Amino acid sequence: DEVINKIAAGEVVERPANVLKELIENSIDANANKIEIFIEKGGKKLISVKDNGEGIFQEDMINAVKRHFSSKIEKEEDLYSLKSYGFRGEALASISSVSKLRITSRTIQQPVGSQLYIEGGKFKYLNQTASPLGTKIDVEDLFFNTPARLKFLKSDNTELQHIINIFSYYAILHSDKYFRLVIDKKEVYNLYPSTLEDRIGLLFSSNFAKDLVVIDYENEKGKIYGFVDINLKNKKNFIFVNKRPVKNQLISKTVKNLIGEKGYILFFEFPSFFVDYNVHPSKMEIKFSDDTAVSNLIKEAFSISLNPFKK
Ligand code: ADP
Ligand code: MG
Repeated sequence: DEVINKIAAGEVVERPANVLKELIENSIDANANKIEIFIEKGGKKLISVKDNGEGIFQEDMINAVKRHFSSKIEKEEDLYSLKSYGFRGEALASISSVSKLRITSRTIQQPVGSQLYIEGGKFKYLNQTASPLGTKIDVEDLFFNTPARLKFLKSDNTELQHIINIFSYYAILHSDKYFRLVIDKKEVYNLYPSTLEDRIGLLFSSNFAKDLVVIDYENEKGKIYGFVDINLKNKKNFIFVNKRPVKNQLISKTVKNLIGEKGYILFFEFPSFFVDYNVHPSKMEIKFSDDTAVSNLIKEAFSISLNPFKK
């Protein structure tokens, strides 16, 4: 089991940012509206996510780190509707096999919380402990027992950029939730629930929101909504499809061909049959069943909203 988990870990977890993504998604799936993230040494030393979600019962703690355990699929249709981020039950099992993982949690039904500690896939202890309502997951010394993978990590600063990128995706997508990011004991973001525009302003500079051009368009194939930064302050881009953060070459190339290197945040909505999320487990790449429909949607939307950019 330990070996299988270690191998599987390579698929889910390549770098600290992948761990952070899984932990944030679990917090959101647990209906948390307050998510605090602590990072040390680019996530190589520590990735910690604390939420005020539903928590985990002591008797479910061990299950939570077992492969293919998920509390989230109850019916087969849930698999296709993807109401929650998780359903494979692989993330915690994989992460626990390649790190020192501590879960501290309490549900509203329990007067006392519990804490589970696993080191490199080996169970160490499960104790009762004082805990606020919700869950805190600490991932320490990622890849300490897989030196080959540790070697592939980039500098702390590069890993940090990936972490901030993941943080930003979810902070944008869930502007109605409180997010806090603390890096090497310094608070970097403290984001109270707000509108999408205000959240974007806080994330990318106070002027950003003012310089944005709004895209808002729909045709028979899908919908597109979002913002483009006309003043080039921010070249970052964030793409969401059906409320999930994604990376997609077709979208980013189409946008780049239309407006050049600009910062943008775009939300797409398509019927679920149109999108394949399972290109790779827990990775952000997706495929569309009709690429032309996607690029046409973008072209039409941009030609209406972004005339100033026309060459
Ligand atoms: P999945 O998200 O696919 O179900 P994970 O390995 O990410 O699988 O998590 C396993 C299980 O652990 C979840 O199904 C859930 O029951 C529990 N869990 C993980 N993180 C949290 C959290 N932050 N709050 C409450 N429960 C959690
Ligand atoms: Mg999960």
